[in-house]
Amino acid sequence: MCRHLAYLGPQASLRAVLIDLPHGLYRQAWAPRRQRHGTINADGFGIGWYADGDPVPARYRRGIPIWGDPSLPDIARVTRSAAVLAAVRDASPGMAGGEQAAAPFASGPWLFSHNGVLDGWPASADAAADVLLSLEALVDSAFLWALVLDRLRSGRALAVALAETILAVEEGGGTGRFNFLLTDGASIAATACGDTLWYRRSSGASAASVVVASEPGDDEPGWTEVPDRSVLTATPSHVAVRPLDDFRRAAPGGETPADALVAAFRFESSSTAPTTMSATKGSVTR
Ligand code: GLN
Repeated sequence: MCRHLAYLGPQASLRAVLIDLPHGLYRQAWAPRRQRHGTINADGFGIGWYADGDPVPARYRRGIPIWGDPSLPDIARVTRSAAVLAAVRDASPGMAGGEQAAAPFASGPWLFSHNGVLDGWPASADAAADVLLSLEALVDSAFLWALVLDRLRSGRALAVALAETILAVEEGGGTGRFNFLLTDGASIAATACGDTLWYRRSSGASAASVVVASEPGDDEPGWTEVPDRSVLTATPSHVAVRPLDDFRRAAPGGETPADALVAAFRFESSSTAPTTMSATKGSVTR
């Protein structure tokens, strides 16, 4: 389905990070080479990047194909950053369109993207109706972002917030594909859970850099594929990959507002009454 990418390293133009590689994210919008689901990513795009000295990233999102924005390549040529997260979107059936449904989703210092699908959406989320109504866009990714954000605000590390969200959703009976990508501008966390994920670390002449992406942007050496059901953490100097199941907590449930939310959200496309949601009402904010 979607393709996404995060970069950390020396200041580079958005054009160098996203467009210039022969099979970079820009080209992956119409010609992905390893995408397992869907063939074209024409339902919008988004770029988030950090400016020096400002912890809150800027975002540029559109609800149109990335190649349909003629101003983008020129703006990208002169916009430079040391930390970028971007995505091109192939909307899952039944999801909202428009720029608000396009990743990256953002809050404070964080940028988030989801490649995949929460099965049964939106009927499967009936039990969380009040949460659904508070989402920026009626798309499964915005819902999953709400769960991740809740864990980040509870003090979880990036990778822990991603992993625990997937495990909690699955423990609640949810199924789907959950390739997540998250950054705070200093490190990257990502999951391979149903679709492809790769990374490349370079120690250039001046400084090290790392790219984490759905698929390689070129055929040069250095790309490593991440096995399915793994959690990756990356900085320019270090990449670590661990099995998702390593993040299973000894006593799951009840620790964060997201745990209560997931417990209430039974992933049933039935007429289950949303009676259990009142306990968590207002506890998940975006
Ligand atoms: N389900 C998400 C959406 O509709 C992500 C889709 C994807 O990975 N292609 O935006």
